[in-house]
Amino acid sequence: MPQTEAFRSRFGPLQHECSLTFDGSAYDLVTSTTALRLIARSHRNIVGTKHGVAFRRALAAGWPMTAAPLKLDILAPLSGVLIPLESVPDQAFAQKLVGDGVSLDPTSAELLAPVEGIVTQLHSAHHALTITTGGGIEVLIHIGIDTVLLKGEGFKPLVTRGEYVQAGQALIAFDADLVAGKARSLLTQVLIQDAEKLARLTSRSGLVKAGRDVILSLEMHASAAVGANLAAVGAAPVYSAPVQLPNPGGLHARPAAVLAAAAKKFKSDIRLVRGSDEANAKSLVAIMVLSTQQHDTLRIRAAGPDAEVAAAALARLLGEGCGEAEPPGTAPLPPRAMSTQSAESAASAATDSGDGKELAGISASPGLAVGRIFQLRQEAIEVVEVGAGAQHERARLDAALHEARQQIEALKANLDDPAKALILDAHQELLEDPDLIDLAVATLGSNKSAAFAWRAAYNSYSSRLAQLDNPLLRERANDIRDVGRRVLAILAGIKQARIVVPEGTILIAEELTPSDTATLDRSRVLGFCTTTGGATSHVAILARSLGIPAICGIAEAALALENGTLVVLDGGKGRLRRDPSAAELSQAHQRMARQAERREQEKAAAGAPAITTDGQRIEVAANVRNADETREAVAMGGEGVGLLRSEFLFSDRDTAPSEKEQAGAYQAVAEALGRQRPLVIRTLDVGGDKPLAYLPLGAEDNPFLGLRGIRVSLDRPELFRTQLRAILRAVPFGNLHIMFPMIATLDELRAAKRILAEEQQATGLSAKVGVMIEVPSAAVMADLLAPEVDFFSIGTNDLTQYTLAMDRGHPKLAAQADGLHPAVLKLIAMTVAGAHRHGKWVGVCGGIAGDAMAIPVLIGLGVDELSVAVPAIPAVKALVNRLSSVDCRALADEVLQMATATEVRERLAAFAE
Ligand code: PEP
Ligand code: MG
Repeated sequence: MPQTEAFRSRFGPLQHECSLTFDGSAYDLVTSTTALRLIARSHRNIVGTKHGVAFRRALAAGWPMTAAPLKLDILAPLSGVLIPLESVPDQAFAQKLVGDGVSLDPTSAELLAPVEGIVTQLHSAHHALTITTGGGIEVLIHIGIDTVLLKGEGFKPLVTRGEYVQAGQALIAFDADLVAGKARSLLTQVLIQDAEKLARLTSRSGLVKAGRDVILSLEMHASAAVGANLAAVGAAPVYSAPVQLPNPGGLHARPAAVLAAAAKKFKSDIRLVRGSDEANAKSLVAIMVLSTQQHDTLRIRAAGPDAEVAAAALARLLGEGCGEAEPPGTAPLPPRAMSTQSAESAASAATDSGDGKELAGISASPGLAVGRIFQLRQEAIEVVEVGAGAQHERARLDAALHEARQQIEALKANLDDPAKALILDAHQELLEDPDLIDLAVATLGSNKSAAFAWRAAYNSYSSRLAQLDNPLLRERANDIRDVGRRVLAILAGIKQARIVVPEGTILIAEELTPSDTATLDRSRVLGFCTTTGGATSHVAILARSLGIPAICGIAEAALALENGTLVVLDGGKGRLRRDPSAAELSQAHQRMARQAERREQEKAAAGAPAITTDGQRIEVAANVRNADETREAVAMGGEGVGLLRSEFLFSDRDTAPSEKEQAGAYQAVAEALGRQRPLVIRTLDVGGDKPLAYLPLGAEDNPFLGLRGIRVSLDRPELFRTQLRAILRAVPFGNLHIMFPMIATLDELRAAKRILAEEQQATGLSAKVGVMIEVPSAAVMADLLAPEVDFFSIGTNDLTQYTLAMDRGHPKLAAQADGLHPAVLKLIAMTVAGAHRHGKWVGVCGGIAGDAMAIPVLIGLGVDELSVAVPAIPAVKALVNRLSSVDCRALADEVLQMATATEVRERLAAFAE
């Protein structure tokens, strides 16, 4: 090449041995800039006079590059001391999950470009950027650790995305004191993101000066990868028109999966772009991590042979909601963890017994069980770090992914629960996620084993998801770990058979995965304990639905209990007692036997009404979620449904149920009850601790004080009207009552009633109307609310929370957030007085309605109905039958004068004896 010598003499010695072919001629690159000077001179019509522009256009034109072994020196972007990546106190960096390179403890505060190239990424929090060099090498510089949380505070970008920068050019200025004070660390990472391209990476150590000293020296493989990457960076990208995201829940699992599946059909490199953030549109995980929200402005950027078609088609799909625009109820989706805390299982903190034998946690599901420990601890799978060559390890990984897909297919075939099958569908999608697989494959290039690379990849993604604000996306972290372990087990040659537990097991786990729950032999598991999770976790919900005792958030020491250790699990108190003495054991057995015997007797008598010894009738109804529970309630002696938590029909899915589906469900409950027994359907009670995927309510500082209960319905009148029409359609089949949750003001009640009146008029059907009294203002105003309704039902779970200003799910406050506090009792008294003055009945459907200690007081306060969990019905009826209403009234008068919940409880304990 005759020009080469000329360039060398003119522009200095070769730094990069790399040739650029253009118009059939090959040019040596002296540096990318100098080569582009050549191009600028010889092709003025294409290239502008500024080198940056030339470089960009050259990239954009997609000129092919043939690369001889390429060397690249990376300069210090900051002055300071170099630290090996392994010493960085952050797993993702230390394990080189983000890339290989070096860390720097800075003494300067202006980040300089360590190489020349284009700023291809500038994080919206301005703490990190990527420069892509002319050779297609991506250099990520990440200032500090956890600095993303500063959301840009203390950082001032001096360049923009897409800008061409020279080595040594200032990129970001930052306030080192502020950042050091607020972030975990100022350690700044310089990372090469394409590990598979590197033949060698040498990092320096010691003190370095910004813009002057070399900190990393790279040698790249002479492979097509460079050209391919250049094409991806440089091939003229096509942008779609901006699209406003219509999906109420953003691109969460389902729509993200639809988009990723559609993107995979195209050959081009496709990105979902939001401002300066972007995600690989073919990756379900990457789309979820982007954490989009409704009304975000998004664009598709595509580069490749079918870029135009892809950008247009995917933008259209985005605009249509990625499948979520289907009529409600037509698209069943992978279920999510339910987030509703049932009244009957309100969390209660427990303290250690003091003898070291008792472990405390949060009550997830009440009940007593004696059994032997079985640790479902996910044994750490031994992973060899060094691989047998990238190609060999890649083949192993592919085979493991294939086998995992087959395993899941087989699991699905044996499931009778379609909801769980949908969870497993989502797992199969994750097994095909290109970003997840790419991340693993990139690590294989550093001579790592398939297992090591895969584990690093899925751990990285699960922890990124676990950190997101959106609880629905956070829950996906568990799914990624679950599916990740499955593949890891295959790679390690461990058979993941159905978990076989001995009979009489008390299961201990850090957390239970969906796969675990799908494969567990429930006939042998007497109780659960998990170290993670609270009352809203998967395991708590599972335990409650199975009706077996369970504790969440138990002390970690539970994990150290030997398999086979004898324990007594008290789900109601949230305590696990190990190695009980003979006396304790016999006491527990006696209690269980007594409980069982009494349950049998009470059940046998439960068909009769509950009447006090002096003739006062108390209606005992059930809190239910669906028709099945309603049938059970009737069999247990339930005299009606005092609370149908309709939100259960709305949760575990990605679209709201249609009017038809809801009407069917309400009709089924009504039919299960019969025409006489009252059915109280509570309208949608979400918000606060009960999020819905498709109903984002926006971030709120205090969700319990924000859009919750009736406020959500008034905010989304269409959703509300649909539900009201559906309830009214069930009117011909039962004794229907409509109840509004969380009414705080008369205005809210009137607004809700206005909408109901319109729907009643439209349908020609009507039902009785009531409100839940669960906010102190409603109790205080009961006298004024009563004339406008047919009944009240007191939600003591929330009434306690709002009266005492104590979060009902807070483990540390659980013991104090007592529904028997005199302040709560006084509000109950006011509510009853207000209702009775106007001839309206009052029920209690909060947790204390089923509490034996509270029932005498509630009766004494004049409550007409107790609505309780189905299994509690026979016991509540039996207790009512033993009480005298006169005694109860005297008791109530007495405790209303007391100052503390402790005094009340002491008095009630004495009364019960
Ligand atoms: C209550 O608050 O007491 C109640 C019954 O409603 P939920 O527990 O469903 O919020
Ligand atoms: Mg409530």
